[in-house]
Amino acid sequence: MKAAVIRDSVDGYVDIKDVELRPITHGEALVKMEYCGLCHTDLHVAAGDFGKKPGRIIGHEGVGRVIQVADDVDNLKIGDRVSIAWFYKGCGHCEYCITGRETLCRNVKNSGFTVDGAMAEECIVDANYAVKVPNGLNPIEATSLTCAGVTMYKALKVGETRPGQWVEVVGCGGLGNLAVQYAHNVFGAHVIAVDGNEQKLQAAKDDGAEILINRHDPDVAEQIQQRVGGVHNAQITAVTADAFTTSVNALRPDGKLVAVALPQGDMQLNIAKTVLDGIQVAGSLVGTRQDLAETFQFGAEGKVKPIVHTRKLSEVNDIIDEMKSNSIVGRMVVDFTK
Ligand SMILES: [Zn+2]
Ligand SMILES: [Zn+2]
Repeated sequence: MKAAVIRDSVDGYVDIKDVELRPITHGEALVKMEYCGLCHTDLHVAAGDFGKKPGRIIGHEGVGRVIQVADDVDNLKIGDRVSIAWFYKGCGHCEYCITGRETLCRNVKNSGFTVDGAMAEECIVDANYAVKVPNGLNPIEATSLTCAGVTMYKALKVGETRPGQWVEVVGCGGLGNLAVQYAHNVFGAHVIAVDGNEQKLQAAKDDGAEILINRHDPDVAEQIQQRVGGVHNAQITAVTADAFTTSVNALRPDGKLVAVALPQGDMQLNIAKTVLDGIQVAGSLVGTRQDLAETFQFGAEGKVKPIVHTRKLSEVNDIIDEMKSNSIVGRMVVDFTK
C-alpha cells in the first residue's frame, strides 16, 4: 500500500512509497483510509522539529473504514468509520489516563510521529482509542474536526465558556475559525475576533463573530475593555508571544486565558493584575476521546463546518510548499477513495 513517509534526510518533505504494515495484534484494527488532512504539525514532524523519525508514515487527521479487527476486539466491527487523531493512545493506567486527562499521559503515542500515521492507504489503530465518526458527518470535514476542531472545542471547555459570555479568539486561521464557530454555535457565547488579515476577520464575522479587531491596532485590549468590559476567556491561536500578553489585558476579572498556539518564548503576566483580578492562565492540548466524540457530534448536527479541499496523495509535497508559503485558506485533505 502507498504511504507518505518521512525522508531519510528528514528535510521537511515526504516520499510516497510502497509500504507493508505489520499484521495487527491484540486490541487492534486495520483501517482503509478514505481521507487524511495535512496539518502544520505534520510539517514539524517531517522536518524533525520534535525529534527525527525517518521512515515514519505521517498523518493524524485521518478518517477511514475498518476492514479487519483482532479476535479480541468487540467495540469495532468491519465497516465502521473511525478517525485517527494526534492522540493515538495513552498508557491507560496512569494518573492522567484514569482521570479524564489522557492527553497529558507521559507515555502517550502520537499518530504519524511515535507510531505510523494516517497519510497512507491503510493504518493500524488501537480499537479502544479509535473514535467513531458518526453518520451524517461529512468524512472530509471530519478530518479537520479530528485535529483543529477538537483542539478548540476542548480549549473552550478549559475556558469554562458559558452561554452569553464574551470570548476573544485571537488568530482566525485554521484553529481560530473553528474556535469562532464552536464558541458561537455550540457554547452560545459572544465572540470578539482578532486577526491581522481582513479576509480572515470577514470569515470570522460570517461564522458569527460580533466584534472584529485588527491585531495591528495599538489598543486591542483597551478596545475590548471599553466595549464589553473585558472578555470571560481568551483563546489564543496566534503564533506570536505578543498576542498572549495583549490578551491578558483584555480579560475581565476572573477571566481565563487559554493558550493553544505554540510560539517560541515567554508571555508577560503582570503579577498584581493576576492577583487583584483573579486571572487564570491555562494551556490546552488537543482533546480526549470523549471530547472528540462530542466535537464530531456537533459537526454532524451542522453546527460547525470546516473549510476543506481534496487533493491527491502524490501532491503532498506540493501541499507542504503551499502551507509554508501560507497560500492556503482552509485545510488540504488527501483523498484516498479515488
Ligand atoms: Zn493536526
Ligand atoms: Zn497514561
